[in-house]
Amino acid sequence: MQFIDLAAQQQRIRSAIDARVKAVLDHGIYIMGPEICELEKELRAFSGSGHCVSCASGTDALLMVLMAWGIGKNDAVFVPAFTFFATAEAVAMLGATPVIVDIDPVTFNMSPEGLRKAIAAVNARDSSLYPLPCEGRTQQLIPRAVIPVDLFGQAAEYDALLAVAAEYGLRVMEDSAQAFGGEYKGKKNCALGCHAAIASFFPAKPLGCYGDGGAVFTEDPDLAELLCSIRVHGKGIDKYDNIRIGINGRLDTLQAAILLAKLDIFAEEIALRQEKASLYAERMGSIVGVRLPEVLPHNRSVWAQYCIRLPEEKRAAVIAHLKTQGIPYSIYYPKPVHMLGAFAPLEYAEEDFPHALAASRSVLALPFHPYLTEEDAARVASAVKEGLHA
Ligand SMILES: *Cc1c(COP(=O)(O)O)cnc(C)c1O
Repeated sequence: MQFIDLAAQQQRIRSAIDARVKAVLDHGIYIMGPEICELEKELRAFSGSGHCVSCASGTDALLMVLMAWGIGKNDAVFVPAFTFFATAEAVAMLGATPVIVDIDPVTFNMSPEGLRKAIAAVNARDSSLYPLPCEGRTQQLIPRAVIPVDLFGQAAEYDALLAVAAEYGLRVMEDSAQAFGGEYKGKKNCALGCHAAIASFFPAKPLGCYGDGGAVFTEDPDLAELLCSIRVHGKGIDKYDNIRIGINGRLDTLQAAILLAKLDIFAEEIALRQEKASLYAERMGSIVGVRLPEVLPHNRSVWAQYCIRLPEEKRAAVIAHLKTQGIPYSIYYPKPVHMLGAFAPLEYAEEDFPHALAASRSVLALPFHPYLTEEDAARVASAVKEGLHA
């Protein structure tokens, strides 16, 4: 059993992928070839977003937007306490301060109420209002931007988050690295009214290439133009006319070609993901001690992960049993962001974000992908039950 079965997907579309790769080998334009433009057009059409700028990874997408916004020293950028490191890393990379916000315990996404309190605490430079990083206590930071994350494939609460951000004049970037293709209140993720949104095409994400890839989405034509410059070393008229600091952030033509082949079946795969999530829910809904992942009624998740929650003291036993059964698993994430070694200088305390801490101690990601079989789902469910009640 595979944790994510990319081979099953490849088997379905191998000839389309071969044809796409062959076309690139034939025209030989490996950097910014015609597939890049074609992909950006398809991604715009799929998401309903006005502009799409493809790039080398989800991390570069985050970084490029923050660079375009001029984020740097003395700036506060609000990020959730439970996400992949990259969300906060991009902020720190530019010398700005990630200010961490706790999550909603049901969806694991950034708490709008937490965001409001964190902004107030930064403005008042008062950590009795909300836990602040070291710099937020010792100097006056300027709240600039918020990066909510659509964790495990489910959109964050954008109506509430955008309202809080607007009140304080902050820009919002949707980190949809795990959730491209999902929906919030009838609109596609990455087209939810944020100033910018990013996707990742890392192989294990719901829409993945065969290497690294990412994209930025926005309705703002000026931002899109700026991103195209930042993507190629801050180019002006051409790449040897460098008018600002940028990065080498281009998506490879070959990866765009792979994505074009995969996009053709993506909508169908998203539907399959709903079916497979239901399979798990049917098999595990009645196991005492298992908390199933919850998707809010106005959301459609792309199920980047299927993460159940277990009683903290039982997780190790369940994992040990899965191992004896040869069932792969993963923990997203074993440490909340504020407890990662790289962020020790922020000087947060473990108990600062209790919902993120509890999530890190109770989550367990099970094998999940559009081609999960009924037999495998049943095997996983039985193993979880046995491990829990042995
Ligand atoms: C994967 C991921 C990223 C980074 O994307 P890469 O393409 O791996 O650079 C950023 N944020 C979140 C939430 C992610 O899951």
